Amino acid sequence: MLAASFDRAGRRICNELLYGATIGDHMVRRHDGHAYLVVDRAILHRARQELRTQTVLFQKAQMAYLFTRGHTKGASPAAIATRAGIDPQGLERTLTDYNETARQARTDPLGKPAAYLQPLVSGPYYVFDCSLDSSMFYPCPMITLGGLRVHDDTGLVLREDGTTVEGLYAAGRSAVGVCSNSYVSGLSLADAVFSGRRAGAHAAGAA
Ligand SMILES: Cc1cc2nc3c(=O)[nH]c(=O)nc-3n(C[C@H](O)[C@H](O)[C@H](O)COP(=O)(O)OP(=O)(O)OC[C@H]3O[C@@H](n4cnc5c(N)ncnc54)[C@H](O)[C@@H]3O)c2cc1C
Repeated sequence: MLAASFDRAGRRICNELLYGATIGDHMVRRHDGHAYLVVDRAILHRARQELRTQTVLFQKAQMAYLFTRGHTKGASPAAIATRAGIDPQGLERTLTDYNETARQARTDPLGKPAAYLQPLVSGPYYVFDCSLDSSMFYPCPMITLGGLRVHDDTGLVLREDGTTVEGLYAAGRSAVGVCSNSYVSGLSLADAVFSGRRAGAHAAGAA
């Protein structure tokens, strides 16, 4: 991920190489649900080349949209910022710091590895709006995490005072589970199968 990500004030969102759900966490909790990915001509050219070999069919369609209509283009960072609704001075300031960090091979304060720090200097510049409500053509994918507190052994829903509600079970993402606070791919289905089986077994026993 050679692109850099910014919020509406022009501040960096996070290390862009983080896992997708972690980036989403930064975006929603710390940056008002807004994130703008900025690239220059050189990086966009490279991304277009990689499109042929590094994406599956439905992603090709999404990227075709992003590379044609789904972006904002401008001759300078200030121009794209103004068009995309980002504070131009904030973006220019942060981008200057980012470029200096890359040029001088300094440590990125947000932890992006040096191999992925490339100065964004060859205009025109492009902004991809990755915000929660960005576009119906490129919707922001989401899954729910967390849910009702349940009894560990039965899956019965717990009241606030810790007593169980007889006959009411929660499972999958309706129930608290291993991925209630954060997410890594693969956590949800196993947890849903486990909690569904737990509730089903207890309900069958109760019946
Ligand atoms: C694109 C994508 C990729 C994912 N990849 C992975 C992965 O690789 N590994 C992983 O572990 N997890 C993955 N997940 C997450 C995982 O799929 C979900 O967290 C999981 O399916 C949740 O299971 P669930 O049974 O709690 O809810 P759901 O699967 O959403 O089931 C809820 C069911 O309730 C039904 N329903 C809703 N309202 C009503 C109603 N009023 N009456 C009757 N029925 C109703 C719905 O139609 C649905 O069938 C992915 C999710 C997405 C979106």
